[in-house]
Amino acid sequence: MTVARRVRVTGGQVVDPPTGTVEPRELLVEEGRVVSTLSDGEVEEVDARGLFVLPGLIDCHVHLVMRGEDADPSAAARRSPVEILASIREAAARTLRGGMTTVRDLGGWDYLEMQARDEPEEPMARMVLAGRLLSIPTPAVAYYPGMYEVVRGAEEVRAGVSKQLAHGADCIKVMATGAMLSPEDEDAQEAQLSEEEIRAAVDTAAAVGAHVAAHAHALSGIWAAVRAGVASIEHGTFADEAVLRGMAARGTFLVPTIRASAGPLGDPAFAGTLPPHIRRRLADAHEIHLEMLRLAHRVGTPIAMGTDAGAPGDLHGANAEECVALVDDVGLTPAESIRTATTDAARLLGREGEIGTLAEGAWADAVGYLVDPLDDIRALREPALVIKAGATVPP
Ligand SMILES: [Zn+2]
Repeated sequence: MTVARRVRVTGGQVVDPPTGTVEPRELLVEEGRVVSTLSDGEVEEVDARGLFVLPGLIDCHVHLVMRGEDADPSAAARRSPVEILASIREAAARTLRGGMTTVRDLGGWDYLEMQARDEPEEPMARMVLAGRLLSIPTPAVAYYPGMYEVVRGAEEVRAGVSKQLAHGADCIKVMATGAMLSPEDEDAQEAQLSEEEIRAAVDTAAAVGAHVAAHAHALSGIWAAVRAGVASIEHGTFADEAVLRGMAARGTFLVPTIRASAGPLGDPAFAGTLPPHIRRRLADAHEIHLEMLRLAHRVGTPIAMGTDAGAPGDLHGANAEECVALVDDVGLTPAESIRTATTDAARLLGREGEIGTLAEGAWADAVGYLVDPLDDIRALREPALVIKAGATVPP
């Protein structure tokens, strides 16, 4: 990724997510970071007249290895490593063009995503990677052999965490319950890793400053993960008020992933091509999930934006649809929705001051829109300008 030496972005109305205010502001960039003054030398000028400029958005839950165009979630298992690497790069490039300058990938494939991150061939979203996810032996492994690290007991959990970190993981993903995008004999309502095992992951990761994200649908698994001290609950479908309040009290984030069901279900022709048991699971849980999210918002559970992009019908590049859904279907204000993908997402990732902000010292990641997203969140669907580390991303 080229980092422009000195850049001046002029004419834009810059949105400040924490305060929800907008003001005309010049963005000055040096060595990829926001600065208050430029040193002497040649300056690249970027025209942002007529644009509302946000800090680059952050999607806290993607799978770059999966393609949302595939109705079969196990499609990657039939691709070669070369094809998978190309597909990861393409997904990360599309994601960036869609206005997501950072993604957290919560389930890669044989560490090919580390190779994509470390050997960029075109501008791609900044990647925070989990490597393989840690899981007990479960039917889902048959769908995702390159994504699952099978562990039995706390000792193997610790070894599994160390292995991901040694491969270059930035964070860790654990499976606290069964999955929905899995073979028919898997049960999303069943708890999987125990509280003790998840705590072993949290402690091992924390020793190097890494956080743990827990996939959890069933209530018992959500409680186990929250008590074990994970940073985020992914999906959280069957969370009740008590656990949502517990998360609010502890500062545990909820990552909604509304798009994982709204994406495929919103396209009936595509939904008809899904494996029938998966279509049924998504349809059965969708309204329960939205009702849970409304409750989470009411009781003040911290929310960080995440889409599960790559899941069937959940397209890379359309990640901003999650921000729209948080407003339309859950009742967040546009300013709150934007915070879930900037300020709050950066806090979950432990990157406050680095991303999700255009304060001095942050990476100069920014997205410009023709319409003020504070007035109409749908503006996020169409970025008119994307900048990563000060470099303008070709459309
Ligand atoms: Zn996922």
